[in-house]
Order: sequence, then C-alpha cells, then structure tokens
Amino acid sequence: MSGASMKVRATRNGVILCALFLGVGGVVLSVVWRDGSPPVLRAYPRATQVCDRYGAPLRIILGETGMDCRPVALEQCSPWLAKALIAAEDKRFYRHRGIDLFAILRAVLLNSWHGRITSGASTITTQVVKMNQPASRTWRTKLREARAACQLETRMDKPAIIERYLNHVSLGGVRVGVESAALYYFGKHASDLSLAEAAALMGLPQAPSRLRPDRHIQRTHTRRHYVLGQMLKCGMITEALYTRTVSAPVEIFPRREVFDAPHFCDYILQQEPGADMVRSTLDRNIQRTIEEVLSVYHARLARQGIHGAAIVVIEVESGAVRAMVGSPDFFDAAHDGQYNCAVAPRSPGSALKPFVYAMAFDQAICMPGSMIRDEAMAYRQFVPENYDQTFSGQRTVREALVQSLNIPAVKVLERVGVWPFLQRLKSLGITTLTRGADHYGVGLALGGCEVTLLALCNAYACLARLGEYAPVRFCEEETPVVGARMFSKDAAYMMADILKDSARWGGIDTSSCHAPLPLIALKTGTSSGLRDAWSVAYNPEYVVGVWLGNPDGAPSEHLVGAQAAAPVARDIFRHLYPAGDSPWYARPASVVQQSRCTKTGRLAGRACETTYEDIGCTGGQVCMDCAAGRGRHEKIQIVSPAPGAQFRKVQGLPGVTQDVLLKARAPGSREVYWFINDIFYCVARADEAVYWPLEKGAWRITCSTDSGDAIVEVTVEDG
Ligand SMILES: [Zn+2]
Repeated sequence: MSGASMKVRATRNGVILCALFLGVGGVVLSVVWRDGSPPVLRAYPRATQVCDRYGAPLRIILGETGMDCRPVALEQCSPWLAKALIAAEDKRFYRHRGIDLFAILRAVLLNSWHGRITSGASTITTQVVKMNQPASRTWRTKLREARAACQLETRMDKPAIIERYLNHVSLGGVRVGVESAALYYFGKHASDLSLAEAAALMGLPQAPSRLRPDRHIQRTHTRRHYVLGQMLKCGMITEALYTRTVSAPVEIFPRREVFDAPHFCDYILQQEPGADMVRSTLDRNIQRTIEEVLSVYHARLARQGIHGAAIVVIEVESGAVRAMVGSPDFFDAAHDGQYNCAVAPRSPGSALKPFVYAMAFDQAICMPGSMIRDEAMAYRQFVPENYDQTFSGQRTVREALVQSLNIPAVKVLERVGVWPFLQRLKSLGITTLTRGADHYGVGLALGGCEVTLLALCNAYACLARLGEYAPVRFCEEETPVVGARMFSKDAAYMMADILKDSARWGGIDTSSCHAPLPLIALKTGTSSGLRDAWSVAYNPEYVVGVWLGNPDGAPSEHLVGAQAAAPVARDIFRHLYPAGDSPWYARPASVVQQSRCTKTGRLAGRACETTYEDIGCTGGQVCMDCAAGRGRHEKIQIVSPAPGAQFRKVQGLPGVTQDVLLKARAPGSREVYWFINDIFYCVARADEAVYWPLEKGAWRITCSTDSGDAIVEVTVEDG
C-alpha cells in the first residue's frame, strides 16, 4: 500500500470520526448553549453627521475609537450587499442556526490535510459576535463565540443578523459598515450600490487594510472576481451578468473629508448633543454664496482693520437658518477665526429702530408720513445726537427712518415706552436683553444694548413675515411653528415700504457686484465708538443679516453700517435673485395712499395749500390749522403799523396823545412781546391792541413770540 493511499484511508476514517463527533456533539452543544444569557450587543461606533437640508454631509464627527460608522436599516442597503456577503462568507447562512457544522467539519479536514489553517468555518453570526467583542484567537474564545452565535440566533432573525453585520463590519481605515464605506469609496449611499460595487465591498472583510480599494485597486479587483464567482456558483447571478460585471474595472470615487459651514455645524452640535444624524436646515448653495461674497470683501475689510464678519440667512416662511458664517476664515487663529460672531452679543446701533416705529404705527402714534421734529433735546443723562451731528428740523417719519435720525427715534420710543419696547424685543427672541427698562432707558432705540446677529435676523424675519413671529429653526425635520402676531400686517407692510427706500439710500454703492439690485428692505446700524457695522435686509422670502467688526471689539473708522455692511447684504440678495426679480408684498387694503399738509404733516384738509403723499392706515387727524387760517407754522406778522409807514406828529394839540396801533397776527402764540428799537416795550395777549405814542425819529418795531419775530420800520416827523 502506498503512502498516498494510506493517507486517503486515514482521511476517510477521520471524516467518519469527525462527522460522528461533530454531528452528535454539535447538536448537543447547540441545544445546551442556547440557554443562558445571550451576548449584549454593543452600540455601533456611530459617527455624528451633520447634513444640509438636502442630506449632503457638512461635517462628520468620528464615533467611539475614532470610527466612522453610519448605521442604516437593511432596507437601505442595496440587495446585492446581502447576496455578496452570503456568497463570500457563509453560503449556508439561511440553513444553519449560528454555527455551520458542515463548514467546521470541512475546515477540520482541510486543515489537517494541509497541515495548516487554510479554511475558516466562521459564520456571519459568529463574525457578528466577534465584531461585538473582539478577542484573541484561541480555542477557548472560539468556543465561547460559537455559543454566543447560537444564542444570538434565538434572539435575532436572519435579516437582523445581516443588518448587524453590514453595519458593523470593518471596511478599511476608519470605515465601519457599508454606508460609511459606500460613501467613502464610491461617493454614494449603500442603497445605490451596483452589483460590482457591492461585490467589491463584500470582498473587503477578509483583509480590510490589504484590500482597500483606494490604495490597492488591483487586489480589490482580484478579490471582487472571487466574490462574483461565488455568487455565480450560488445561482445569485446569471452567467451573462457575471461575465459583464467581472470584466469591468473597479471604479472608485473617494470622497473628500467634508468640513463645510464650520461655525454652523459647531453651533448645531452644541444645540443637539448626542444626535448621530442631524438633518440641518442649512442650504449648501446659499452657504456657498455667502462664503463667496464674503471672500470678495475680506481683503478690503482686512486692509481697513476689520477682521471679523458674520452673515446669517433665514428663510422667512419657515424660520429656517439657510446659511451662517461666523468669521471670514475659520482657520485664521490670529483673528479668532473659530469664534462664531453670528451668535456673539454686540451693540446693534440703529438696527432696532424699525421695531420702535412699527410699534408706534400699531399704536397710531405716527404714520410713515407724519412729521416729527429733529431737534436737540436732553433726557436726563443722555443727549442723543444724530450720526452726522447735525439736526435737520422737520422731517417725516419715513425720512427720519431712511436717514436713520436718532432724535426722532428717541422721541417715538418715549411715546411707545421703554418697558413695552423691551418686552417686545424679548418676545421677538432677543434673549440677550437681561437688564431692566431703567438700565437701558430711551437709548434702547439707538442700540444701547447687546444682541446677536442671529437673534436680530430672526426678529427681522417677523417683520418680513408681516408681523408673525416664528422661532428660528436649525433642524429640517422639525415642523415650523408660527407663533404670536407681534405687529399688525399694516404696520409691518408700512415698515417694509419705508425700508425699501432705505435699501437704496446712503450714497455711493460700493458693492463689488453690478447686477441689478432686487427689491429689498434694508436697515443698517453702527454702534457707538465705531465697533460694529450692521446691515439687515429682507424680502418676503429671505432675511440676510451682516455684521462686521473685530472679535476683540477693536474699532475702525470704516465700521459704518451703511458703507461697510450694506453692500455685502445687497450683494447677497443680488446672488439670490440673479435676474433682479425679487417678490414683494401686496399692500393690505387698510393701508392707503394719503395726502398730507406740508405745514403740519397731518392729513390734508381742503384749506391746505401744499401737500405730499405717503401711505398710512385709514383715519387720523386732519389738518385744521390751514382751515382756521392760522397755520401753526405760519410766520408771525405785524398787521399794524404797515412796514415803512411815515407818521407826522401834529404839534400844538395839548391833552391829546397821538398813538400808533400795534397789532400782530401770531398764530399759535398766546403772548407777544413788543420791542421799540430793540428796547422792551410791553407784553400783550396775541390779539390785544397796544398803543405806542408817536415820537420823532426812525423806529424799528419788533413783535416777538416763541416761534419767531416780525419787524417793521417806521418814521415819525414833526408836522
Ligand atoms: Zn394744513
């Protein structure tokens, strides 16, 4: 008998022995081992993922032990994955109960034949156990794993085990699970993998590092060939499909590591700790737009000593934050690039004025066409000054707001009340106003407080929504909540109408973009000390807020809202509406075009000579002054004596005083003061007749009231 035939016989005996041993032992073990506590499945090393509104990843934060695992349901995996897995790793998966006795037997035989380990007998289930609790490869651990696999099968059905495997298998580098690997190697979701891609991925578990497609494409190809062959053998694919697939090259599209919208992602991760997948409201296209616009301005701003910038875009209808930038360069450590200025409290300057006026419209304190005097005044410790330090006299509310005059805003806030205004700002979501009304005083109208750009933009979103407040949203899946009405539709409409004038006001537009400017409402703000420049612009669809300054609060003479920040906001709107066709508001029926008296600013009566037009709510005070012939702003006039009158004092009339009647028309004045050659003569009621005795000479007769003087000159001769 030859040695070879002896070996064959020995092997045959071995087969019988092993079969008996394993058959009996295995059945006994698999029954006994099912009892006892099943293995506790550990959580996946889930990566946290922040996506934009369309699901495009913005940021991946690696999970436990630095792994990138994105668990998905089996239904979200291409059906080829499970097939390729079963063909490559465990053909009798649906027939065994955790351990594959036939495979073990075959492995024992093959290994003893070759004298070394060439074939494993581990099932998908035992591999799931191994992934769950990696342990050294000893016979003891192998037995323990086999026992755990049997227990697992009693608790989980086959598809659940496949799902667990597909999500937990190591697929090269930090990639754990098919979703993460599919995204990384093929730039697509696991659900979209083709047969070729699924076969390539399911070839990897054998040696994930050695077979990585992004490093060793030839090895991946060879291994895929094997997996496809196994699938063909199992009847999972046809000969034709096999031939077609096996000859195609392995095509990989490695995805770059994403790190988009860093300030936004940081902020959202703070708001949603522990979430593994955040479908955010961010719109990557709008985000890219604001980043591009800011980059155009960045160099110029830096030359002007402005190193910080923040931009927020909110969608009006939903309150969703569609874009956010917190600094010009996240990686600029010298200027606190990682600090998010969009959520930093800063002084808003004039940016709060529209809210003062909108409240005043609702209380019928004034309308856009009302007149308001811009004059010096002092409030206790506080002397408001207009930005250009001049006082401009009689202005309409529209002009006062468009030119951002300070004194009218303070006067209107006085009427509205500081406390109600403060409460309103808080209701609009401005949470940084933590002090009492006394602390802020009327200076609140001029931004003597701190707000964040984000909160300010959301307050403007309320105006843009024509008065309805909605909390700001960061998660796309959250249902938008429309909250309380803060302003009437009329007041909000009138505000938008004024601020659309403001959008085009402010001299030279230093924008870098020359596309047509769509119709927008815009308000600027400049903090005292030139530390912050603001601009918030809106239309019925978007609110765009821009803040410029330095994170450390350093001032710059260029930090003026209208000059520095407004062009940035305008440019963003130009990019949002490249054709220049932005939607606008329909005028509510209760807001009408009104004719007002130029003298009083009240609704024009029949007697008012000159008038101007502006919008306002129906009703309001009609000018009575013109009708009464005593326009309040008419000049004082001396009725008697007539200017240039010549009098003759007749001599030789003893006992008779020769007097001249002094009479003035002084509308709106109760008392008048008479002066003769600048020397006080008397005070009289406005309608009182006063007499002055004739005296030879040339005389200047002055009648003086609070609102002005009138002078006539007369001569008296002896006759
Ligand atoms: Zn009038």
